[in-house]
Amino acid sequence: MDKTSALERLHKIDGERRRIAQVQALLQWDQETMLPDAAVEGRAEQMAAIEGILHQRGTAPEIGRLLGRLGSSAAAPRGDEALPETERDFLRVLRRAYDREVCLPADLVVDAARAEGLSQAAWVRARQNGDFSVFVPHLRTMVSFARRKAELWGFSERPYDGLLDLHEPGMGAAGIDAVFTPLRERLSLLVRRIGAQPRPEAGFLKNEFPVAGQDAFGRALMASLGFDTRRGRLDLSVHPFTTSLGPDDVRITTRYFPDNMLSGLFSIIHETGHALYEMGFDPAFRDSSLADGASMGIHESQSRLWENVIGRSLPFWEGRYPELAQRFPHQLAGVTAADFYRAVNEVRPSLIRVDADEVTYSLHVILRFELEKKLFSGALAVEDLPEAWRQGMMDLLGTAADDDADGVLQDVHWSMGAFGYFPSYALGNLYGLQFWRALRRDVAAVDDRIRSGDFKEILDWLRQKIHVRGARLEPENLLREVTGQTLNADAFMEYLETKYTALYAL
Ligand code: ZN
Repeated sequence: MDKTSALERLHKIDGERRRIAQVQALLQWDQETMLPDAAVEGRAEQMAAIEGILHQRGTAPEIGRLLGRLGSSAAAPRGDEALPETERDFLRVLRRAYDREVCLPADLVVDAARAEGLSQAAWVRARQNGDFSVFVPHLRTMVSFARRKAELWGFSERPYDGLLDLHEPGMGAAGIDAVFTPLRERLSLLVRRIGAQPRPEAGFLKNEFPVAGQDAFGRALMASLGFDTRRGRLDLSVHPFTTSLGPDDVRITTRYFPDNMLSGLFSIIHETGHALYEMGFDPAFRDSSLADGASMGIHESQSRLWENVIGRSLPFWEGRYPELAQRFPHQLAGVTAADFYRAVNEVRPSLIRVDADEVTYSLHVILRFELEKKLFSGALAVEDLPEAWRQGMMDLLGTAADDDADGVLQDVHWSMGAFGYFPSYALGNLYGLQFWRALRRDVAAVDDRIRSGDFKEILDWLRQKIHVRGARLEPENLLREVTGQTLNADAFMEYLETKYTALYAL
């Protein structure tokens, strides 16, 4: 087989596998938005069946032969130097996925997928009742599946590194420690300095904001940021998320609370940031594994840029606030745009990660990272997690919940076996501000554009520098190409220090 035919065949196999994965994503989306309670076990079986098909397709010996024919190996994943650069990047992405997948026996993959469905259902029950014990056996199972996979991937010594590598290629626990340690110190200091100052008046946020009005405002906002409603939609779920069901079908979700309007609003902006990334991949990568984020951390950099750096900025609310005030005249009576800006940037150590302000947020992530490290080193047993959680919250944030529902049970990730995922959120903050610095050098009058609601130049820059490239570059290389730098906490911390020095008169 000549190289052109080998590449064509590889693209065909990849495209078919992706379409099956999209069907699986649809089942998952449905599970989190629509599924009746009694259907949970049946759905777990369906997910396991599809997982089995995906595994079979992803480990087909033909893929190994084709990759080899094109010169791709573990040592030289990008293959033949004579091939076009994009194809070489494609080979790298495929080689990585294939090498991971072939290590795993089919029954392990299917059993893990089935267990995941049941574990998620158990987590929902445990969280509803604030009863961690219901979740313990499931969480043990998820940890042992994750550990087994990491071992099969060659990470027997340090299984957690194998899990981290899944979400942030090339960055093990030591690499993350190197950026989290200074981050933790500088954040803790900033939180203490802010805590010594008077709090902004934010009582009006506890007023009742009818859900219909929140939804109308949120939908208008997401469209104005650039979300193409012909290529995606917004629905409701317990935990907000983004998923792509196809190249022209990007789903985002949010949740609304009448007495906590910010939760739904900022979830929409956050998930819109993810969706803009997914909608911005090069159309030439349609049906290709290159139509993916560079890593979870890079994905989070996009969502968190829109949510915080843009969505919690003064120019943003100077522009958008009049419309919000018009929609909620009684709830926001006497509140100015500047008051609202101060209120949405209130820094207060709190219990729930997803509702945390941008200063304390990364400390929530660091807690999860520290606990996961211990869980996989064997230093911490599953049943001791609630207490370790409380202790960690006290150490990092000076507050802890009595109830496990607002503690160790608050996040869905562990129930899905997604260990090593949490650090992406904080890494996203760091990547995001490094990108933002480069953007501000290239794009003129950024604040004026944000104020006037003209996001086109900003989105175009992100598209051209980051989105359009999809998974072509590994995160480290993407960061270097766009910013000339390696990962560090400086841009993020300088952004926070400047913003909150002004806000809190530090
Ligand atoms: Zn996110």
